[in-house]
Amino acid sequence: MKYILRMFPANKIKSFVYILMCSFLLFVSKAQAQEYLPLHLRALVADTHNDILSTSLEKGYSFDQDLKGKTHSDLSRMREAGVDVQVFSVWCDGTQQHPFQFANREIDTLYAWAQRNSSAMAIVKTPAELKKAVKQHKLAAMIGVEGGHMIENNLSNLDSLFKRGARYMTLTWNNSTPWASSAMEETNDSLLHQPKGLNDTGKQIVKRMNELGMMVDLSHVGEQTFWDAINTTTKPVIVSHSCVYRLCPIFRNLKDDQIKAVGKNGGVIHLNFYSGFLDSNFMKRQDAFFAKHKPEIDSLEKAGKQEFFAQEYIYEKYKDEVQSLRPPFSLLLDHLDYIVKLIGVDHVGLGSDFDGITSSPQQLDDVTSLPLITKALLERGYSNKDIKKILGENFLRLFSENAVR
Ligand SMILES: [Zn+2]
Repeated sequence: MKYILRMFPANKIKSFVYILMCSFLLFVSKAQAQEYLPLHLRALVADTHNDILSTSLEKGYSFDQDLKGKTHSDLSRMREAGVDVQVFSVWCDGTQQHPFQFANREIDTLYAWAQRNSSAMAIVKTPAELKKAVKQHKLAAMIGVEGGHMIENNLSNLDSLFKRGARYMTLTWNNSTPWASSAMEETNDSLLHQPKGLNDTGKQIVKRMNELGMMVDLSHVGEQTFWDAINTTTKPVIVSHSCVYRLCPIFRNLKDDQIKAVGKNGGVIHLNFYSGFLDSNFMKRQDAFFAKHKPEIDSLEKAGKQEFFAQEYIYEKYKDEVQSLRPPFSLLLDHLDYIVKLIGVDHVGLGSDFDGITSSPQQLDDVTSLPLITKALLERGYSNKDIKKILGENFLRLFSENAVR
C-alpha cells in the first residue's frame, strides 16, 4: 500500500479523490434527474384543491379546452402533469345571495365536463371508484365544498351535497358562518360579530360529516374553530390548502401546536402553493403593487367583479411587474420539510390552490410543473416510498379512513 501511495503524491491523491467524488455526485444527480419523471408518473398524484370550476364560471372557460396561458390547469395539462386525483373546489364568497344554489351550479358544471370527457375523467365518490378510475387511466375527479356558508345552515343541504359527491367541506372560507368563525374574522376584531369557535350547531355539522364520510376540512378556519372541530371529530381531518405559520405568519397558516394536533389526529396537511402563504415578505411586495393600481381595481369592483377576480385581472395585465414578486421554488419544500420534521411524512400532501391564486413560486408556473416537486424531493433525500406518500398515498389513506363502508 505504501508503495502504491508513493507512486502518487499526496496532492494528486487529493485531486483524484475530488474528481471521483464529483463524478459520483454528477452521476447521482443525473440518475435522479432521469429517475424523477418515471417515479412521478408511476406514483398516485393527488391535488386536494383547485379552483378551475369558479374560474371557468367567472370567465366562461371550459376545463376541456386548451387554456394554456390563461389558467394554471385544464384537462390535458393535468393529464400531462401525471395528476391522478383532483379535488375540484366548489366555492363562492360570502356575498352570494343563494350559495347553495351556486354550489350546485358548479357541481352541475363538473358533471357536464365529466360527461363530455368520459374516457378521460370520472367523478368518484368512494376510494374503490377512485382506484378504478386511476386503473383505467382516467382523472379521478372529486368535489370539495369550500365554505360552510354553502349549506345555508341546513343539514339537509349538507346531505344533498354529499349525495352529489362532495367529500370534504371546508368549515369556513374567509367569511364566518353563524356556527363557525373563520381565521380571517378571528384575527380581526372589527370583522367578528360572534363568539369564536364552533357552536352546538357547528359541532352537530362536524358529527354529521363524520357519519356521512365527508372529510372535515380545517383550512381557512379560525384557531378556536380548529380546536373545537379537532376535539369533536372522530375521524382524521384534512387541511386541504394551508402552510406553516412559523415560516410565514399569515392569519390562515397553521401554528406548531395545530400541526402537532393534526399529526395526532391522523390527518393530512396539504400545502398551498400561494406565494403569500409561503413567503413572509410577499404580502408587502404585493401590497405595494396593488396600491400602485388601486384606481383600476376599485373601478373593476364597482363594475361588479368579486375582489379576487378584480385583483387577478390586474395581475394578468401587468405580467412583467408580477414576475418580480414571486418567491423561490425552494420555499415550498421548506414548508414541507418543516411539517415532516414535526409530525412525520405520513401527514403531508399537495393542495396547490391552482386557479385560485394569483402568484406561485418561481418555476411552479402551472400544473405541468408538478413533476418538479418530485425532482426536488429526490434532491432533498426523500425515499421513493416517502415521495409516493406525499404525492398522493397519504390522501388516499385519509379518504379511506373517512369513508363509510
Ligand atoms: Zn381557499
